[in-house]
Amino acid sequence: QPARKPRGRQFFANPGPTNIPDSVLLATAHHTMDFNDPHFIEVYDACIAGLKRILKTQQNIFLYTGSGHAAWEASFVNLLSPGDTVLILESGYFSISWAKMAADLGVEVQTVPADWRRGVDMGAVQAALAADKSHVIKAVCVVHNETATGMMIPVNEVRAAMDAAGHPALLLADTISSLGSLDFRMDEWGVDAAVGGSQKGLMLPTGMSFTGVSDKAMEAHKTSRLPKHYFNWTNMLARPHKSFVGTVPISFFYGLQEALRLIEQEEGLENVFARHHRLGNAVRAAVQHWSGNNGPQLFCLNPSRYSDSVTAVLMPEGINADELRGVALKRYNVSLGGGLGPLGGKVFRIGHLGDLNEPMILGTLATVELAMKTAGVPHTPGGVDAAIAALAD
Ligand code: PLP
Repeated sequence: QPARKPRGRQFFANPGPTNIPDSVLLATAHHTMDFNDPHFIEVYDACIAGLKRILKTQQNIFLYTGSGHAAWEASFVNLLSPGDTVLILESGYFSISWAKMAADLGVEVQTVPADWRRGVDMGAVQAALAADKSHVIKAVCVVHNETATGMMIPVNEVRAAMDAAGHPALLLADTISSLGSLDFRMDEWGVDAAVGGSQKGLMLPTGMSFTGVSDKAMEAHKTSRLPKHYFNWTNMLARPHKSFVGTVPISFFYGLQEALRLIEQEEGLENVFARHHRLGNAVRAAVQHWSGNNGPQLFCLNPSRYSDSVTAVLMPEGINADELRGVALKRYNVSLGGGLGPLGGKVFRIGHLGDLNEPMILGTLATVELAMKTAGVPHTPGGVDAAIAALAD
């Protein structure tokens, strides 16, 4: 039996991919063009300039047809040599996955361990760097917004810890679930490689990723010896678009042009951040209310690091988050994110990034509360009222 498609629109509350605005969807449906056509080059150049404004950089940018993993890999293979060491700041599933990639590529991994609910201690970052007297650490890697735990790690504080330790390593920041949702300042924060993807705050389909690259990183690239070809920035610079070793995925750029128009012209980047903060606050208010009566609670225990793009919700002991997600999806057609790695079954995640407004978030919260009631999950009813109060405040 094929699955019956429920009536009404699905509420998609995953933290990425995210909802795509209709105008972006329509813009991507562009007829095929030669990617060297001057009309396309104009769109392409405008998109690169827009991406640089969102990254807040005036430096280089390279793009890849591939999801965020491609940009992760590009940042390593272009900057490192076999046996180099990277310092990974543990934040959760995505920091660990990036570390595994480094190890698979033949790079040594040193980690600053952290409690996933409180986040890395900047004193420990500074101490690890200060202890590296011979500067074997070539890059410090931080996930700006850990999508698995709902925590934002302040990249400016990582930069400050590096400077305080007087360490010359490159700073690599994953902005995959922060860019276009939370403020990110590549140049001001001294980020040498900023990794981003299409399918979250930029509200595009999955499949294009990019790295902002500082001049210091371009110097390091010249001597890096990890094998690379498609991802090789030198190969890219020789191409007409100074990116994309193969065919340029033109439809992404028509979509990106429209997404940038929505973000920068229609709403304004600062207003986009404010909307994410407002919606994030509403979700947190609901979860904090539910947490009474032994209900689910915010996974993140560090209010100064709450993520405005995703909230991870920790289930009461012994109650499986995936069962609740199953009820939300199968009975009510609301798609929630699941727990990743060791948090599988223990947390569910509400994405509140991208093309999202108050009714969408309230609808999701009301349905989570309904699903908790249906599934017999203990909680204090009234989380939606708490979210409404937060929104009205
Ligand atoms: N880094 C972060 C913070 C992410 O949230 C994700 C995906 O959700 C990735 C990396 C991996 O990106 P992708 O799934 O696009 O390859």
